Amino acid sequence: MRKVQNLIVGCGLSGMVLAERIASQLGEEVLVIDKRDHIGGNIYDYRDSSGVTVHKYGPHVFHTKYKEVWDYLSRFTDWHYFMYRVKAVIDGEEVNIPFNLDSLYKVFPHKLASDLEAKLIKKFGFNHKVPILQLRESRDSDLEFLAEYVYQKVFLGYTIKQWGVTPEELDPSVSGRVPVYISRDNRYFQDKYQAIPAHGYTEMAQNMLNHPLIRVELNTDFADIREKTLYERLFYSGPIDEFFSFELGKLPYRSLDIRFRRFDREYYQSGPQINYPENYDFTRSVEYKYYLGEETAQTVISEEYSQPYISGKNERYYPVPDQKNQELYDKYRRKAAACPNVYFVGRLGDYKYYNMDETVKRALELYERIEANEVRKVS
Ligand code: UDP
Repeated sequence: MRKVQNLIVGCGLSGMVLAERIASQLGEEVLVIDKRDHIGGNIYDYRDSSGVTVHKYGPHVFHTKYKEVWDYLSRFTDWHYFMYRVKAVIDGEEVNIPFNLDSLYKVFPHKLASDLEAKLIKKFGFNHKVPILQLRESRDSDLEFLAEYVYQKVFLGYTIKQWGVTPEELDPSVSGRVPVYISRDNRYFQDKYQAIPAHGYTEMAQNMLNHPLIRVELNTDFADIREKTLYERLFYSGPIDEFFSFELGKLPYRSLDIRFRRFDREYYQSGPQINYPENYDFTRSVEYKYYLGEETAQTVISEEYSQPYISGKNERYYPVPDQKNQELYDKYRRKAAACPNVYFVGRLGDYKYYNMDETVKRALELYERIEANEVRKVS
């Protein structure tokens, strides 16, 4: 039987933050395992032969309003400041996403756009964000027309491709991530801090793990070491249903087939991300060289084909937030609460659609609770 003080399952953001904190602040040994052959989880990136830094698991643009998260990660990376701008092709035209006042003038004749703008500002106020499902409840017939247009053109096709269901069948927070924005701010996010690690996410990950008390073992499945390892604490960022051998049923996840394409030309598309709600079978096309402003003769893009997660066939990317799944997750969570010294973290451990910054924040908060407990034990 192997003994470790802290066992961390999964070398993604949650696992890395906890490993770093426990090693550097508590001075305890940490073993991080991951079944993949690389560190970083889904933030892993690499330099393609064209010289472009590519995100293996699809686009990751860091953004946060939390200074503590920004300051924490800033210890491990320099930043390339980058404000994300996303377009969607609607009726063949590239339109700003989130759909905003500029988008309105792009898709409608001037007079109609101006009337709708006035109504939106009157009803919701300038600089206000309105989730599409809320806009669809408008009683005013002009706003109802607008809501239906945006719903059909921006959300319906994209969401069916991405999730296999309509926006109403998911938790409203999913489509609420990209609300209609009564503003001329053309950025995808409004957070104070927005950037990409200047030398890539993988280098940031290496810096986080670079501590003599942290040992990383790759190509290692929890199932294979579970019965052979004793730990004082276990941090588990794998799927919570799998931890409990699916005994209450399987939680559904969405997966992605991300297809990369390299072109012998400097640029492929007009900006870093183009969404295709109405066209093609992929949801979006991402051209990575825009992220770090890399100057290369070739370019690399990815196209994301969404599919249900099927065990043994593909990987889990997204939990599927709806009421039924939440109820099943809650049952697993109650079981988890009864496991002493086991902490479930991350998108799969918490079955939550976290952004990167939320993942870091939650891991930092968990660490602080553990540290407070340790102090209590000692004093
Ligand atoms: N969405 C959409 N059309 C778009 C962009 C987003 O319908 O052009 C919806 C869709 O349901 C998507 C969700 O909003 O899954 C969240 O989008 P986000 O860009 O945050 O997705 P992520 O980058 O996390 O995959």
